[in-house]
Amino acid sequence: MLPRTPEKLVELTMSKVMARDPGQREFHQAVHEVIESLAPFILQHPQYLTPEVFDRIVEPERVLMFRVPWMDDIGRVHVNRGFRVEMNSAIGPYKGGLRFHPSVNLGILKFLAFEQVFKNSLTGLPLGGGKGGSDFDPKMKSDNEVMRFCQAFMAELQRHIGPDTDVPAGDIGVGGREVGFLFGQYKKLRNEFTGTLTGKGMNWGGSFIRPEATGYGNVYFAQEMLKTRDESFDGKIITISGSGNVAQFTTEKAIELGGKVVTLSDSSGFIHDPDGIDREKLDFVMDLKNNKRGRIKEYCSTYKHAKYFANRRPWGIACDIALPSATENEISGNDAKSLIQNGCICIAEGANMPSTPEAIQHYMGNKVLYAPGKASNAGGVAVSGLEMTQNSMRLAWTREEVDQRLQTIMKSIHQICLKYGKEKDGFVNYEKGANIGGFVKVADAMLAQGLV
Ligand code: NDP
Repeated sequence: MLPRTPEKLVELTMSKVMARDPGQREFHQAVHEVIESLAPFILQHPQYLTPEVFDRIVEPERVLMFRVPWMDDIGRVHVNRGFRVEMNSAIGPYKGGLRFHPSVNLGILKFLAFEQVFKNSLTGLPLGGGKGGSDFDPKMKSDNEVMRFCQAFMAELQRHIGPDTDVPAGDIGVGGREVGFLFGQYKKLRNEFTGTLTGKGMNWGGSFIRPEATGYGNVYFAQEMLKTRDESFDGKIITISGSGNVAQFTTEKAIELGGKVVTLSDSSGFIHDPDGIDREKLDFVMDLKNNKRGRIKEYCSTYKHAKYFANRRPWGIACDIALPSATENEISGNDAKSLIQNGCICIAEGANMPSTPEAIQHYMGNKVLYAPGKASNAGGVAVSGLEMTQNSMRLAWTREEVDQRLQTIMKSIHQICLKYGKEKDGFVNYEKGANIGGFVKVADAMLAQGLV
């Protein structure tokens, strides 16, 4: 029996997904968030209902899982688990980052790969969706240990990827250092210099603006949202979580536009600097995190007026704009309530799924500007797509050119969200807009290509 109401469609879809993979909590959360906003649209467009397009979209085309044995500096052997989820290739080669973090498991990577399908579609570039990684923790490891791990990981992954098949990039725990080791091993084993990984170094195939892209893109997207209410970044108080790649470049662009960033965090706690994190302080954080691989609390040893809050997240600090840039489910319902009570008007997600479903309910109930990560953090994969284009053409665009293209892409994603997400009272439901906008292109391509 075909479902006749959106509620029935959601219920039926979720019962199938949950029965098939009962333990994959984050994956269920991501699928639920999407099908809830898609259900009315799918019922109005039955071409997506009867050939079970959504049932196919939630099932990865291929899942690879492999052993990664490696040796530490004192000769001990460790065994980690490697993964690659090749989710959907309807509109292009699989594309999505690699995450190295002890929390990595198949459910987390399936949620990330699923989100990636919609995000990549929104960029307008020919990119399918994938995600991968390992439960390896690069923290407290020497450079040599990280290199040996990356080489062991790539020894297996290289069989499955390629410039026209599957193009990984970085994510949590995978930055420039790791991409370098992964690319070196890929090149050696395959004897080819191609654009198979993105996020490469500038003098060996990387693109200008790729390191900055996710953070800059999120700020560009938030700027577009603010414009709809005649607002801007100028003079706004901003809270940011995380202190890695996304958080650093979000901070850089936000302060360049006149905002005052007052928090950063890591998995141990957050710092609050009421005077604002200026260029000099941000350089300190970049050196601390990218070179010294230190902890954010060390910020307070240099900048004494700042306060450190151990094991806490920054959402209790009053702000106008919140840009979560650390990890999934880092904003609870209560966090969202205090953000809104303290006057926050805009939340744009740099991280993937940082807001819990309860938090999103609060945003929607209070009609604040809320951008889901699949729209607002798509700048990272967009510039990865531009890196692939430059690699294929064997030439490099200037910094200005790539930045201009990134801005155009973020504006276009914003337009797609308006097209599908504007409600009768004028409120823009960016979640709905991004989900429908991302879905239509992939679903139409799947229908055109038949049952494969
Ligand atoms: P990094 O590894 O560079 O930085 C991650 C930051 O988040 C670190 O400060 C880390 O702290 C913190 N963090 C990680 N896990 C947790 C946790 N469980 N609780 C609290 N803090 C945590 O990663 P990125 O900046 O690249 O990624 C951040 C987010 O952005 C992720 O959700 C990622 O999926 C998303 N994203 C990244 C893109 C990219 O281009 N890099 C593209 C699109 C989305 P600590 O050092 O203590 O671990």
